[in-house]
Amino acid sequence: MPKIADNLTQVRRLIQQSASAAGRNPSDITLLAVSKTKTAADIEEAYQAGQRDFGENYAQEAVEKMAQLSHPDINWHFIGPIQSNKSRMIAEHFTWAHTVDRLKIAERLNQQRPAHLPPLQVCIQVNIDADEAKSGCLPTETAILGDAIRRLPRLHLRGLMTIPKEGSGRKPFEDLAVLAHSLRRDGLCMDTLSMGMSADLSDAVAAGSTLVRVGSAIFGSRA
Ligand SMILES: *Cc1c(COP(=O)(O)O)cnc(C)c1O
Repeated sequence: MPKIADNLTQVRRLIQQSASAAGRNPSDITLLAVSKTKTAADIEEAYQAGQRDFGENYAQEAVEKMAQLSHPDINWHFIGPIQSNKSRMIAEHFTWAHTVDRLKIAERLNQQRPAHLPPLQVCIQVNIDADEAKSGCLPTETAILGDAIRRLPRLHLRGLMTIPKEGSGRKPFEDLAVLAHSLRRDGLCMDTLSMGMSADLSDAVAAGSTLVRVGSAIFGSRA
């Protein structure tokens, strides 16, 4: 079996095991294959193994790879920091954006989302451990931003995303789940918790993740 297909099988198995251990249905968890810095040929290999959701961090790099692949059923997810001057490329080429953390960017994506496409599926990136070095809005700012995004017709608010400090275990994931629960109770419709990467997938699934973003465990380590 080719390496990427083999890795995908193992990651899917780990998701199943983590879900079972947590008493959850594995089909409630989407696997996002993070293909940043990897080639279109690598993506093609994962596609042939059944993978349909791919995550990219750099808009320009992603659009170049999209042009080399001719699969209309791939869902492209933008998961890198969103700079103002890259928002148009994201609005025009991606299905999802996981890293919306301020109103200005949400408004630009809303304006720039082409009319012939469905609304852009959006997660709010939350800086759950209030790490100075990281992007994401603070937990206390999330309700106001969520309420604003809900009013933008070309965006569809799907949920929350976070990247906790490495090695911080289950706690930040549980905190994000609690935050999502309280926002839903206050009337925000959301069905997605985008959390968990190669190293902490099991903790994230245990805490309620519905979408894990996995790069190196599928494609190998990055240069
Ligand atoms: C690179 C990246 C990932 C994947 O990380 P791995 O450790 O390779 O699984 C997930 N999420 C985001 C936001 C990333 O930038």
